[in-house]
Amino acid sequence: MSAIADPLDASVAALVPDFAPRLVAWQRQHGRHALPWQQTRDPYRVWLSEIMLQQTQVTTVLGYYQRFLERFPTSRQLADAHLDEVLAMWQGLGYYSRARNLHRCAQAVRDLHDGDFPRTAMQLAELPGIGRSTAAAIASFCFGERAAILDGNVKRVLGRLLAFEGDLASSAQEKRLWRHAEALLPAAGADMPAYTQGLMDLGASLCSTRAPQCLLCPIQDLCQAQRHGTAEQFPVRTRKLKRSRREHWWLWLEHEGRIWLEQRPARGVWAGLWTLPLFEDEAQLLSHLQPLSTLPPEPLPRIEHALTHFDWVLHPRRLALQQPADLGAGAWVAREDLPRYALPAPLKKLLG
Ligand code: SF4
Repeated sequence: MSAIADPLDASVAALVPDFAPRLVAWQRQHGRHALPWQQTRDPYRVWLSEIMLQQTQVTTVLGYYQRFLERFPTSRQLADAHLDEVLAMWQGLGYYSRARNLHRCAQAVRDLHDGDFPRTAMQLAELPGIGRSTAAAIASFCFGERAAILDGNVKRVLGRLLAFEGDLASSAQEKRLWRHAEALLPAAGADMPAYTQGLMDLGASLCSTRAPQCLLCPIQDLCQAQRHGTAEQFPVRTRKLKRSRREHWWLWLEHEGRIWLEQRPARGVWAGLWTLPLFEDEAQLLSHLQPLSTLPPEPLPRIEHALTHFDWVLHPRRLALQQPADLGAGAWVAREDLPRYALPAPLKKLLG
């Protein structure tokens, strides 16, 4: 059975001679060059920056990147560190699963690859927390491998370039776009770092979600969406994330400047982070308090916190205990020691 021809194959083939050279020349002249992770081909440093840059702005990442490397100059030092310390250093970057995977990945590099990151995108993609696009970015930046990236920004650039009508919520359509992304790669591995960075830079600057600046774009005359004035219609993605709402009561117990914290389980929301005890409803919280105090806790303004899949409403209740109590699995933590604990962002804000 012969495969059905993709109607875009001919357009992609026509773009090949111009697209990559144009993007590479633009990146070399106008793209970003001064970022610290662009001054190295060390896969550990490039990998660290790629993971930090997922879902986080460059300006925020800069400080964290620097501090991480000061504390963990090599992947082996990161692998040997305690997870609690890694999580504490990640505080404020959010999406803590990235930090847990970072630690697991460093351990896999230490244990399975003798401390050296593998050199191909295929092997890199087998490590924890490294997806296909991140693996391709590392292999391209560090080893000049001809491997295509396809993160959210690049889907937008290529979706517009090709006026790609396929719905990227479908994995078959996503695979189709990967195939076109591979066909568009430059011929020479030496051009891969500038090409990959060029795609990232274009998606992060001119080819914005709203009101792209097509007049400044190096590929404007190649871009189908620009030609038809339909840029904002691409990429096509129909599936909407279903968001739910959860509500919990948060118990803030204090005794002589120390706060009672409990560590969340290793899986699930805020895995491994330290928080105040959580309760399904206020009655449950009050019955937990009964043996500890006859005073009612002070209600504090509710907190609304948006996570990837749901909105979380938290109702903090605060109480100063006269006597310290042993509350089971957890710890009384002095305020000055809080920076050593990985706390979720809304708790950090609440505790001031
Ligand atoms: Fe994006 Fe416009 Fe450039 Fe097309 S021409 S890639 S829509 S910035």
